[in-house]
Amino acid sequence: MGKRLAGKTIVITGASSGIGRSCALEFARTSPKDLRLILTARRDDKLKEIAEEIKKEVGEGVKVLPFKLDVSSPEEVRGFVGNLPEEWRNVNVLVNNAGLVKGVAKAPEIEEADVKVMFDTNVTGLINMTQAILPILKKRADGGAGDVINIGSIAGREPYPGGSIYCATKAAVRAFTDALRRELIATRIRIIEIDPGQVETEFSVVRFYGDKSKADAVYAGCEPLTPDDIAEIVVFTAGRRENVVIADTLVFPNHQA
Ligand code: NDP
Repeated sequence: MGKRLAGKTIVITGASSGIGRSCALEFARTSPKDLRLILTARRDDKLKEIAEEIKKEVGEGVKVLPFKLDVSSPEEVRGFVGNLPEEWRNVNVLVNNAGLVKGVAKAPEIEEADVKVMFDTNVTGLINMTQAILPILKKRADGGAGDVINIGSIAGREPYPGGSIYCATKAAVRAFTDALRRELIATRIRIIEIDPGQVETEFSVVRFYGDKSKADAVYAGCEPLTPDDIAEIVVFTAGRRENVVIADTLVFPNHQA
């Protein structure tokens, strides 16, 4: 698998924590030579720490570019590729992972600002990033091979009370991914969705506006997945030979079945 990823350039959104951070480390471990990782998020101090962590763990063979990027800003996303150093622009894999949930409230009580930030990040941000990277995948010198890996959620398949907007954003991701896959069938671009169930990350801290005790209560009495569990699947999926498309994966902890 490492050999197939060697020499590739991989963009990960939301790489500053949780699943995105684990994906960065897992790609680096799997392919410790000749890999370029572009790690993006708003907290670039965290991205720099992760770049250091990767250097310590796997050495200098993996090149890491921390890049401050807010996916909910159409201007920043439009400028993203053009602002990359030339040698970093030949992207092979985009992992659209940035996402968040805000609040737990019945639909009529959800704050307008929370609706906006969830759609701007989870849906519009993912679409804009995909539109920014697809032209690169299409015109690659090697004939247009590449992957877009979208991190959806079990919430996009099984909506739950109190999470209507988050569930709606992830259902939108699912529809967008599915349509795009059909548009690109028989090209060498793989459009992939991986839908996690419950994973312990900063996700719930963000949901409860930074209240750690409320976040911890979400995981009381159950054993959520770890972000590494999801990262292993992301990297395994990207590492398949080109003709193998693991298009759609649902993965959840046993208690959630
Ligand atoms: P975390 O909160 O740990 O990570 C979310 C990441 O998204 C952070 O790196 C954050 O970085 C980034 N992010 C948020 N908003 C933006 C933005 N506007 N621009 C750029 N980056 C942004 O949570 P997870 O790792 O759990 O979440 C990753 C993905 O997994 C999300 O799409 C989430 O919906 C999905 N998911 C999570 C599940 C879970 O139970 N944890 C279950 C199913 C799906 P920063 O703040 O630095 O910008």
